[in-house]
Amino acid sequence: MQLLTDEIKRKMISRVFIFFSCLFVLGGCMYNDEPMPEIVHSPSSESRIIPPPVIKPKQGWGSAYKNIPGNWLPPLQLEKKWVAVVIHHSATEKGNAAIFDKLHKEQNHWEGVGYDFVIGNGTDSGDGQVEVTFRWRKQIPGAHCGGTSGNWANKDGIGICLVGNFCYRVPTARQMQSLLKLVRFLQKRYGIPRSRIYGHNTTPGARVTACPGKKFPMSRLKSMLNF
Ligand SMILES: [Zn+2]
Repeated sequence: MQLLTDEIKRKMISRVFIFFSCLFVLGGCMYNDEPMPEIVHSPSSESRIIPPPVIKPKQGWGSAYKNIPGNWLPPLQLEKKWVAVVIHHSATEKGNAAIFDKLHKEQNHWEGVGYDFVIGNGTDSGDGQVEVTFRWRKQIPGAHCGGTSGNWANKDGIGICLVGNFCYRVPTARQMQSLLKLVRFLQKRYGIPRSRIYGHNTTPGARVTACPGKKFPMSRLKSMLNF
């Protein structure tokens, strides 16, 4: 009888032990199932002000101008500071950089085409095609806007010529799209505001000319610039 009682006691003790063991394990599980505490921002992290990245001129521009043709960027070791853009028409129905280069050499006895960029109208180059001339590649003064004080417009102004005669017709839509893209690029690159984007005839000090023609949409172009 005593043996039986001891046996019962042992069984009871082991069951109680198993019961509490289960409680302990379940308790652990329950603890683990508790929802995660909400993450709240401490006042110190909220009040922390992250300063905007410092964008220095000529740094990081590559990513900002992803679709800019590589030849619009002059060789960095030659690059100079430009202060204005002067827009011209060719006053011819047709043409391209090579044709104007030949013309300016033969007729004017210049070193070559006077402009930095020539934008085609679909005749002798693509409609809206931007040609980069040796003047831009070498970063040397242009020969496109005579008469200004100290020749500043040729020395420090970027000459862009659109093929066509805008005394009689407007530039093509593609020419204007390319011009807008090119001018925006040059503005950003050199910090040139729209007030220094000139037509040849409105360049301060320039000799009287009809260029770039009364049908050239200068005010519309300026309205589409960012600054
Ligand atoms: Zn002109």
